[in-house]
Amino acid sequence: MQDCLFCKIAAGEIPSNRIYEDDKVLAFYDIDPQAPVHFLVIPKEHIASPACITPENSAVVAHIFTVIAKLAGELGLENGYRVVTNSGPDAGQSVGHLHFHVLAKRSLAWPPG
Ligand code: 5GP
Ligand code: ZN
Repeated sequence: MQDCLFCKIAAGEIPSNRIYEDDKVLAFYDIDPQAPVHFLVIPKEHIASPACITPENSAVVAHIFTVIAKLAGELGLENGYRVVTNSGPDAGQSVGHLHFHVLAKRSLAWPPG
């Protein structure tokens, strides 16, 4: 997708503070962290939102969760973490490329505001 911010980050056209990368996914720190640890995990393939996950493209979602579990171990998140994905305007999705926020190292309110 030519005009997609996270496609550009995945392609390295826009710099990011990368934590992990393989052929399918990229993890990088959020530019505006909402917790002491706040990173995003994205598929390299353009999927516009959680609402666009289908049986054909969903394998990467399982892979993303294995990457999150691995990174949580490496980053010392043994006290817990939250995985969030926003879909559409009511949820506050601001970037139209599927991404999973991982927030940690502080106590997180529930339910979210
Ligand atoms: P959303 O609001 O769509 O759930 O989350 C988008 C996230 O992307 C926000 O937390 C925002 O701070 C982050 N973000 C937006 N632009 C950039 C950028 O250029 N680089 C990085 N690393 N994060 C970004
Ligand atoms: Zn994209």
